Order: sequence, then C-alpha cells, then structure tokens
Amino acid sequence: MARAEPQIFEVVDSTRLTLNMHRLTLGGTGLEGFPCDQRGGYIKFMLSKPKIGKAVVRTYTIRNQSERGLDVDFAMHGTPAESGPATKWAITARIGDKIMVGGPGPAKPMPDGRGPFLLVGDMTALPAISVNLEDLPDNATGHAIILIRNEADKQNLTKPANVKIQWLVEEDLGANSALLAEAARSVPNVDDLAYAWVACEFEAMKQLRQYLRVEQNLGKERLYISSYWKHGMVEDDHKIVKRVDAEAIT
Ligand SMILES: Cc1cc2nc3c(=O)[nH]c(=O)nc-3n(C[C@H](O)[C@H](O)[C@H](O)COP(=O)(O)OP(=O)(O)OC[C@H]3O[C@@H](n4cnc5c(N)ncnc54)[C@H](O)[C@@H]3O)c2cc1C
Repeated sequence: MARAEPQIFEVVDSTRLTLNMHRLTLGGTGLEGFPCDQRGGYIKFMLSKPKIGKAVVRTYTIRNQSERGLDVDFAMHGTPAESGPATKWAITARIGDKIMVGGPGPAKPMPDGRGPFLLVGDMTALPAISVNLEDLPDNATGHAIILIRNEADKQNLTKPANVKIQWLVEEDLGANSALLAEAARSVPNVDDLAYAWVACEFEAMKQLRQYLRVEQNLGKERLYISSYWKHGMVEDDHKIVKRVDAEAIT
C-alpha cells in the first residue's frame, strides 16, 4: 500500500503518446518532498466525488520521474463518456488542474543478472515493463510479450538487443483472457528462465499463473505475477477479488 499522506499535484503537461495511451506529467507542490527515484513504483489518484465525499482511488505506475514531474501513462478504454473515472479524468485534464495523489508504493524490479527473462503484460503494465526493460543490463536476454489495443500503440522501447519484443493486438483489451498465456506457451526454453514478470487483466493473469507457477513450477523467487485490473469490474471490486484469490492460493 501507498503510505505517505496524499499530496496535491498539478498537471504540467498532457500528451497523447500513442493512439490509446495518454500521458500526464504531474508536478506542483506535491512534487516537493516526494521521494527521488520512484520510477516504476506506483501512486494512488484520489478522484473527488464532491457530493458523496469519499474519494475514488485508482492505481497507476510512475513511468518517469524528473524535476519537472511524474509521467503517468493512462491506457485508454473508450471515449471519455465510456471510461472509468481515472481514465476520463486523465484524457480531459487541462494544464493547471489539481489532483490528490497518495504514495509512492514500491516498484517491482527485475532481479540482477543477464536472464533469460520473460516479461508479460497488457497496456496497463506497459509503463512498468518499459521501466524494467530500460533497467536490464545490456547483455541480458529474454522475451517480452505485450498486449496493446491497436498496432498504433506500439512504442519504441529502450531494451537490451537480445530481449525480443512480441506485440499482440486486441481491440477489446482483456476480452480474450487466453491470448497472453497462449503466447507465453510458445516461448522456447521456459524452464531455463531466470525470472518471469507478469502483470495484466485478472483472468489472463490466472491463465499465466497456471502455466508458469503450476506447470513450469516457477517459485516466488523466479516469478512476480499480479493482476492490474479485471474486465467488467471497477478497481474497488477488482481489489476484493484479488485479495480473495491471493488468500486462496497461499
Ligand atoms: C500496481 C498497479 C499499477 C498500474 N499501473 C497502470 C498504469 O500505469 N497505466 C494504466 O493504464 N493502468 C494501470 N493500472 C491499472 C488501472 O489501475 C486500472 O485499469 C483501473 O481500473 C483504471 O481505472 P478507471 O477509473 O479508468 O476504470 P475503473 O472505474 O476501475 O473501471 C471501469 C471499467 O473499465 C474497465 N477497465 C479498466 N481498465 C481498463 C483497461 N485498461 N482496458 C479496458 N478496460 C478497462 C473495468 O474493467 C471496468 O469495466 C495499474 C494497476 C495496478 C494495480
């Protein structure tokens, strides 16, 4: 959990990164006193619900951190009217808009070493995967499988030459929960993996966990696996399902 008291940040930049990925840069007073080097960690947006009083809380990755602010990349899922509150806020935000932000919570980095590594995720995990790829040593080897909504959502990622990127495209992101696991099953020599890092939609995560943890016997020291959202469910309900699932498997 993010522990620090929420602070007020201000939108200092707003850019459409790719067709379905929107970047906000958040600076302002909240940045003063925010710990350094939190790239890859997560923050909690407290979106106000004026009449009800209780904030709607949504979790996002710090893609970059600089003196100017925190870059946060929002995977879009529809028009502003169709989107959840965080995505709607992000794509309609204007420079100078203010937002309460809690955190940071810790990053989930790759371990030291040259691999081979496997990284798997959808657009919600693309910021975290990008950070992890950037931080691998030049001689690292491996494979990254990334699910995007459109060919136009491919990004030019900084990565070691011998880490291969495989892009998968699904317009209704997360609707086919088998896609990522099927792609992972086609990666050769999975039993030689030094480490696998996975974050995606809940049902897709379960299929990957079945393959990597149960069938390939990757223990916790060789596997990070998490769901970042659940198809058809708002984050608050996803968190409950995630907790019940975690208790059931441990
Ligand atoms: C540690 C962590 C880090 C995360 N980092 C990022 C990040 O950097 N960028 C990012 O985009 N997301 C990230 N997420 C996922 C993000 O928190 C969820 O997608 C969140 O539900 C979005 O909130 P919302 O208000 O837009 O939608 P909600 O109100 O939560 O959901 C509304 C509806 O939209 C659906 N939905 C939610 N997200 C998506 C999606 N991406 N595609 C399709 N349908 C969706 C839900 O299933 C629901 O039906 C992260 C999650 C975690 C746990």
